Amino acid sequence: MFKQVSKQLAFQATRNFSTSKQSNFKVTVCGANGGIGQPLSLLLKLNPLVTQLNLYDIVGTPGVAADLSHIDTSSTTQGFKGPEELGAALKGADVVVVSAGVPRKPGMDRDDLFNMNAGIVRDIADAVSKNCPKALLAIITNPVNTVVPIAAEVLKKNGTYDPKRLFGITTLDVVRSRAFIGHGNNVDPQSVEIPVIGGHSGVTIIPVLSQSQPKYSKEIEPLTKRIQDAGTEVVKAKAGAGSATLSMAYAGARLANSLLRGLNGERNVIECSYVESTVTEARFFSTPVVLGKNGLEENLGLPKLNDYEKKLLVEALPELQKNIKKGVDFVAKS
Ligand code: NAD
Repeated sequence: MFKQVSKQLAFQATRNFSTSKQSNFKVTVCGANGGIGQPLSLLLKLNPLVTQLNLYDIVGTPGVAADLSHIDTSSTTQGFKGPEELGAALKGADVVVVSAGVPRKPGMDRDDLFNMNAGIVRDIADAVSKNCPKALLAIITNPVNTVVPIAAEVLKKNGTYDPKRLFGITTLDVVRSRAFIGHGNNVDPQSVEIPVIGGHSGVTIIPVLSQSQPKYSKEIEPLTKRIQDAGTEVVKAKAGAGSATLSMAYAGARLANSLLRGLNGERNVIECSYVESTVTEARFFSTPVVLGKNGLEENLGLPKLNDYEKKLLVEALPELQKNIKKGVDFVAKS
């Protein structure tokens, strides 16, 4: 049923925000005034691979840009506000990271955000087509499972879709898994390597704990559930003040840095990301992928799954396919 990939997952040691080569990359953050957007922009301002950082939002970006521009790193920062400045914010970007949209409140699941966020992602994808069609587009906005297909369909309509350049950011699921395993095993979370596959909501999140290095020393099932529900853990703790922002900014900066390292010619840059693929019957699916000068260089496919993980995959696929269809239908009707 599924393409099995025998390749050993050779995750590189995490070098989150550093590189050996010099570069000249322009990055645009859409939603840069938000709970995620601000710390994400801060982390990107510290990234030596970024030379120009453009901050776009419907409010607040002149202030955030002025603030960040006083940091003594070499990149320059510029703020862009409102739809009339979106094109200028995107012009010539190498990487665009999108966290524009509404976050969850207690009692909501990610799918409840669809009505607010679908149109936002559609319009940004449309502007990407027109202003930076070769950019790597990486989406944080939820529901990731559905808005990534929306972006794909919009880019396709405009004749600029390249599946190697569109990424749904599921990195937070990997980051959380590493944190929980590391602290659970009493080892440095940075030393933990684990693939998390599928999508980015509830049962579609599949941490492949059988492939974790080191192996998790405690019970697998409660940890699997905790990783799947970790976003809700934060939503509840924030009690109405939004969802994960700081950990998400860290995860988004990690993925953006990996995209830039790939563009910069570094080899063996591997991240899990939600991309178009034929690995399963779901058109979009997160697997470990090799990043390079053109974005996605190689999809490493499914890691080896044990019986429990195969069962999780069977549970995830119908939900994921439903989420994807919703996005495709939205663009067809738009
Ligand atoms: P937030 O409300 O703090 O920030 C969102 C920002 O988007 C705001 O500054 C707002 O002004 C801006 N915005 C709204 N409409 C816009 C538009 N049309 N164009 C540009 N900017 C616009 O929310 P947040 O906590 O930063 O979360 C942002 C999104 O990220 C939410 O959809 C949330 O669910 C999602 N999220 C994803 C993950 C993940 O793992 N992928 C994790 C956490 C949150």
